[in-house]
This record gives sequence, structure tokens and C-alpha cells, in this order.
Amino acid sequence: MLKSVKSKSWGFDIANLDKSTRPQDDFFRYANGGWLKKNPIPHDESNWGSFYLLRKASDEALRNILEDSKRKKAAHGSNLRKVRDYYLSAMSEKKLNKEGARPLNKFFDMIDNLKNSNDVVALSAYFRRIGVSSLWRIDADQDMKDRNIVALYLEQSGLGLPDRDYYLKTDAKSVEIRQKYTAHIKKMHKLIFGRNFNPKKTVSAIMNIETRLAKASMTRVERRDYEKQYNKMHLAGLRRLAPNVDWVKYFSAVGAQAKGRLIVMQPLFIKTAEKMLSNIPLENWKYYFKWKVMSAFAGYLSDKLADERFNFFGKVLSGQKKMKPRWRRAANEIDSALGEALGELYVAEHFPEEAKKSINKLVDNLISSYRERLKALDWMGDTTKKKALEKLSAFIRKLGYPDKWRNYSKLNISPRSYLENHIASCAFEFARSMKKIGKRPDKKEWGMTPPTVNAYYNPLFTEIVFPAGIMQPPFFNPNADDAANYGAIGAVIGHELTHGFDDKGSTFDKNGEMKNWWAKSDRKLFLKKAKGLIDQYGKFEALPGVFVNGKLTIGENIADLGGLVIAFHAYQKAFKGKERKIIGGFTPEQRFFLGAAYAECGQARGAALRQQINTDPHSPSEARVNLPLANMTEFYEAFGVKEGDKMWRSEKDRVAIW
Ligand SMILES: [Zn+2]
Repeated sequence: MLKSVKSKSWGFDIANLDKSTRPQDDFFRYANGGWLKKNPIPHDESNWGSFYLLRKASDEALRNILEDSKRKKAAHGSNLRKVRDYYLSAMSEKKLNKEGARPLNKFFDMIDNLKNSNDVVALSAYFRRIGVSSLWRIDADQDMKDRNIVALYLEQSGLGLPDRDYYLKTDAKSVEIRQKYTAHIKKMHKLIFGRNFNPKKTVSAIMNIETRLAKASMTRVERRDYEKQYNKMHLAGLRRLAPNVDWVKYFSAVGAQAKGRLIVMQPLFIKTAEKMLSNIPLENWKYYFKWKVMSAFAGYLSDKLADERFNFFGKVLSGQKKMKPRWRRAANEIDSALGEALGELYVAEHFPEEAKKSINKLVDNLISSYRERLKALDWMGDTTKKKALEKLSAFIRKLGYPDKWRNYSKLNISPRSYLENHIASCAFEFARSMKKIGKRPDKKEWGMTPPTVNAYYNPLFTEIVFPAGIMQPPFFNPNADDAANYGAIGAVIGHELTHGFDDKGSTFDKNGEMKNWWAKSDRKLFLKKAKGLIDQYGKFEALPGVFVNGKLTIGENIADLGGLVIAFHAYQKAFKGKERKIIGGFTPEQRFFLGAAYAECGQARGAALRQQINTDPHSPSEARVNLPLANMTEFYEAFGVKEGDKMWRSEKDRVAIW
């Protein structure tokens, strides 16, 4: 029996539709076209849509908390006081403009005093501690092959552009971006040094060093292979790899205990960087380090410097027309520096506990559907299946906010200097992470702050994490019809679970250790199916002549497809025995897909899209909706997709993995 129900709040607004597009030809446009037409990208954004609207709302909530903090009495040393003082320092525009680049002088002096390549390495260690990236990167994380210990990782780093390819590609657009980058380097120097610098020498020294580092760097696709990057060694091994660096001195300068294990992610890079230390003149390193300091800190100084930084990284690279307002930049900075202090205040005001309960139930339902689907997979053998099911049962979930908040008592924040606060918080974070080396990992830790509108899967902890920020409409709406919630937050939960079984995640076992749990033939079939998706996405043209990189995005694409399939089936299960209502003219299945499309509703500026294609493992919004749906027979049935429709693929061309 079909019954029509009139409801405004079933989770989808009919006005979002573009009825001139057939759902069978372009579902993304059909579901979102109306919204996209009515909502052009604001000048201070490079993307606009469901995620970005929520991010803005989340920032506005933080702004209220920050503004309120100015009026509240806060004890010296309390979290509220730190949050307030940080905010005051960020908002003191007049003072920042008056100081100009002066706060950088002490760093320039350090650089001018470099005497030899040992000094260069020591300075790089100091800069790492205070948030300036140069040469390589050192970090602490759980050993990928031993869940009981935090290891020290050495990784490639030191570039100014978003990826190695930006230095090496020879197409016209890449050449143009490089020209604009060097113009930006010159302008920044001019703002700081006036006429007291040699533009030609400066630019050629910086570009030479960065390009050589780029050449030695692994590509983003290569970096999806963790096994290849897991090069465990002792100090002696590192010394053999890069003998001219005094590693003991370096590790002690960064505060790292390196007696135990060390994982060198890109040995070739470390080797090359070490060679460069001795065969590049000291004078050129000085140019490089000054540039690193300027670029890292310009955003915390005067408007002139921050604007120039924005001109390149905002305008050129992502097509944004206007910088975000100061309060918003400040809120983002404090969210990243004091995330759990600010987050605690945010959660108290903005997070209903009922949301957590509902999401918890949804996760249960998603996992139980996942289990059923795993058991029923026709391509996977029983031995592998058993391991996959074990892994699924091992998933830990974190919802809303951490059980235990972080302690910031050792971090000193004052209202006097924005840059000094930034440096203090970088140093605080880094010292904290170095102290973890050699110890047991703390599985209670969170990698995102509560107001974050996002979610993640961490292969090392076998966990899925959903911050409070994403548990809001259109992702989760307590008043909406189940269909819309399963299509949106349900698919997000399914997406994160599927990351545990994507190209990277599936190389980790239930304990969070990189260990092959696959039968050889099953792995081969899995990779063959993945190859099908790689080919499909590789044909998606995001901009004229610019195609999605199927290999870079494969993990996210597997997760998108898996997430939607699992969520659809979980919805069907939840729905069993209930009345089939027609709401807004749509069947339950149709509403599920509309909810899914709404969650991914969004548009990007050309420059932002280009950058995304080059660096981001996520496919563009349109592809994230249309490509998985074109693989789902469930979608064909819901909307009557037939041969000849643009969304149609023959059965043999449809990819089904999970
Ligand atoms: Zn993902």
C-alpha cells in the first residue's frame, strides 16, 4: 500500500532539484542542480555546498564562543583564558599591522649566522619544532607493524608548492603556476626587505632547492603503498644511508629518543637531501630557510603579508577571490592549536547527547549489514572472509568528542603576540608527540577536533571517528525520514568502515598491524575489481582536459561505493515491515539516493578543482555521486535507469566490491 505524506522536513528540499535534468542521465545535477544555481560560491570560498555550509556554521558557533570569552572571567592558566588570549592576539589587527615583519628578524638573524651544513641541519630541527617545514619531516606514530609501540618516522617534506608535480610538469598551466609562485616569492621579499635583496639570486636558489627535493620525492600514488615505505632501521642504518648528518645531534635537537626503531618512509629522499647539504652553497640555504620562515609565518603577521600569502595560495591555487574574515581565520587557528579546549566549550553548547545515541545505533546497523554482505560475497574465499569478519568486529568507534579532554596546562598563551602563540602551540604539540616515541600508543586520542565537519578511519587503531561537527543536517537530521539519514550519515559511516577494506586499509589486520591476511587469489580478484574503478574514474573529466587520477583516488572511491551499498542495505533492513510511504512524490529508495546526493552537494572553482585533482585523494562531488550510483543496480531499480540513459552501464561493466 502506498500512502502519500506531505512533509517539509523529511531531510530533502524539493527546491534543490533541477527538474530539467533527468535523474537517469545525471543524478547529481538532478538532485542538486536547483541548489547549485541559487547558491553561487561566495567570494571568500573556493568550494561551496553541504560540507562548506556546515563548516561555516561551525566556525560561526566558534566565533560566538570566542566573542563570549572576552566578556567572561577566566582564571589565569585556565583553558578559557588561553582560548580568549589567543583570540585577542589574533584579532589585534592594528598592532599586527604596526609590527609588520619585525617579529621575523630574530629568525633571519639565526639564518644569517649559519656557518656550515651542520648548522643547517640544526636549524632545520629547530624549525620543525616551531612549525616551519624544511628538508625532511620527523614525526611520531604507532609502528605500522607493531601495535604496541610508537615509532619515529622520517618523511619527505620541504616543498613550498602543494606537490612535487608542480615543480616537474611542463604543461602550460603548471608553467604558469610556477611563474606566479616565483613572482609571489619576490613580492614577499620586497614587502619584507624593500630593495635589500637580489630577486634573481633569491628565486633561483629557492627554486633550485625545492625542485631538487621535488625530484627526489615519491608521488602521491606511490605513497599509497605503505609496504614500500616501511623501511625500518636502527640509527646505524640511517647513518649508512646519510652519513654526513650527525643524526644523534639532530634527534637530540628535536627532542626525539631514537635509540629504538626508526622508520624511513622515503630513503631516496633522505639520501638526496643529505647530498644536497654538502653540494649546495650555504648562501643558497640561507635564501631557502628565510623563505620557509616567511611563508610559514606570514599569516600571523600584518595584513600586507597575510594578503600577499593569500594572493598566491588562496587566489592562484584555489581561485578564492577574497580572504576569509579575520575572525574566521582566528577561529580555525585556535581550533587547530587548542582544539580540545575550544571543542569542550563547543560540545557543551552545540552537541545534543541524543545525536550520539542515534548515531551509535546507526553504526550498529551499518556494521550488521556489513557483516551480512561480507558473508554473502561471491568472489571471496572462506579463509579471507573469516579474517575480514574478524576485522569488522574489531572496529572501535569514537562519536562526538573524546572521553577524556587533553591537558593544555603546559602551553603558555598570552594576548600579546599572535605569532608567538602560534609558535608556542606548534612547539607544544611537537614536543608532546616526540615524548610518545618508544611508549605504548594512547588509543583514546582523537585525530580531529569536535567541531570538525568530517570523519575518519585510522588503520592503526582499527577505528572510525565521527566528530560532533558532522552529526548535523544534512548529514544527520533527527527529524528527517530514515531514508535521508541512511543516504547521508549512513553512507558516511559505511564509507569510513569501507576504508578498512580499501587498497590501503585492507593491508592492515584487525589489530592495526600491516600484515597480509588475504589469500593470494582473493587479493588478486580484489585488485582486479579495484582496477575497474580506477579505469572508470580515470575517464571522468573534471575540467576541459583535466581527468581524475583513478590511482590516487582509488581508496576514496572504493569507500564511496562501499559506503552507499552498505548504507542502502542497512536502510532496507531497518525499513522491513514498515509502511512504504511516498513522501514528496518519492519512494523510500528514491529518498535514500536523494539524501546521499544532498550530502555531497557542492561546487568548486576551476583552480580549486585543478588543485584537488593534483593533490586530493577525494574525487570531485559530481563523480562522488554519479560514479558509484552508476555501479549500483539498486539505483537503476529505484529510478528506472535503462540502456541508453547516460547513467547506464552494462551489467558486466558495473563494479561491485563490498
Ligand atoms: Zn574517505
